[in-house]
Amino acid sequence: VTLQFEAARVACPLAAPFRIARGETTTAEGVVVRVRERDRGATDGETTGVGAALPSRRYGETPATVEAVLGDLASAVADHDPRDRVGVDRALADAVTGHPAARAAVSTAVHDLVARRLELSLARLFGLDPAGAPRSSYSLGIADPETAAERAREAVAAGHRVLKLKVGDDRDRERVERVRAAAPEARLRVDANEAWRPRVAVERCRALAAFDVEFVEQPVPADDREGLRRVYERSPVPVAVDEAVRGPADVPGVADRADVVVAKVEKCGGPRRALRTVEAAQDHGLSAMVGCMVGTAAGVAASAAVAPAAEFADVDGSLLLATDPYDGPVREDGRVVLDERPGTEAVAVDPPAFDAV
Ligand SMILES: [Mg+2]
Repeated sequence: VTLQFEAARVACPLAAPFRIARGETTTAEGVVVRVRERDRGATDGETTGVGAALPSRRYGETPATVEAVLGDLASAVADHDPRDRVGVDRALADAVTGHPAARAAVSTAVHDLVARRLELSLARLFGLDPAGAPRSSYSLGIADPETAAERAREAVAAGHRVLKLKVGDDRDRERVERVRAAAPEARLRVDANEAWRPRVAVERCRALAAFDVEFVEQPVPADDREGLRRVYERSPVPVAVDEAVRGPADVPGVADRADVVVAKVEKCGGPRRALRTVEAAQDHGLSAMVGCMVGTAAGVAASAAVAPAAEFADVDGSLLLATDPYDGPVREDGRVVLDERPGTEAVAVDPPAFDAV
């Protein structure tokens, strides 16, 4: 055995409840994974790697499902040379079907380990320009329009310049209007998280056009490809797909009915597969946004490392937390500051107690 894995469950309370079309979150639960190379010196920072699973029920995952497959994932790559990152990702995909956040945790930990060994930041390991990460949007959950507007004002006061507003109830138009009025200078995106039927989506998109909305994310359910086409053809606002794309293989199917593809480390199964999804979108003439789930910076840092490949970033997942055992490269004002420390650039502040996988 070359690679030894440990895991710890973490529960990070959110600074405020975060509501999207599917439901509300008050605590972000995840599983932090740490890997160590045997015979390369114990746990000095040079030879350990850290990643995190930020599981989403939308993709069938919880901390318990992550923990349930970690043993299989760990043994699938235990004898790999970690520098063989392609082989590691293939072995993880062969070991379990689905479970993308669990695979992402292990893949990220191995990427972090290798990058540290090579004394490169993860962005550099991917051949990306660390200075090229787009500014992250800051997410505003579904709330009554007045509260949403107040949160938008606070976000702008904290330095944010890009806002992403969650929608999906009957006050969407009013909420967008109030937020736009509260943050007239901000770039504004909207995310419906599959909430609308196509006819409603077209109506809402037409209404949103008055408020200078950059794009509308996942207006219709992921599997409604015909509905997506109808919205894309009729909406004056560009359309982004998130839930409809889980990896590079899904990109061709949406290439003629979307403008932007949202790639996430957690749904694609690791940072390298998220990068491949970004590049697949760009190869098909679309733009890409690197997104993330809500949770510890130990996980979000991997998304930040991939962000320079994309035109847009939405990597604020750790900014919504009240406490976080890790710190990362996404600043409180939405800047993604990759300063080329080796690895993912996540830093342990108050690391959890790990158990062997
Ligand atoms: Mg989304």
